[in-house]
Amino acid sequence: MLSEDCAYCGNLTDMPFHCSYCKDPFCSEHRLPEDHRCVKLRQIRSEKFGERKVIRDGGKGKTNILKRIFGKF
Ligand SMILES: [Zn+2]
Ligand SMILES: [Zn+2]
Repeated sequence: MLSEDCAYCGNLTDMPFHCSYCKDPFCSEHRLPEDHRCVKLRQIRSEKFGERKVIRDGGKGKTNILKRIFGKF
């Protein structure tokens, strides 16, 4: 059996989960990127939110985005 220490809390885990992003072993409690403060979390989030949109709008779109957000609420 491959038992490993959780890279976050250090607990010895008989069936470690390996984060598909940082490849580190984690216990069942810390297997999610959010739960072990994954080093790739920023990357994951930017992928989810679609960084392309921000880049496409460019620098001059910044105030427009704020107006759009605050205008809605
Ligand atoms: Zn853990
Ligand atoms: Zn991770």
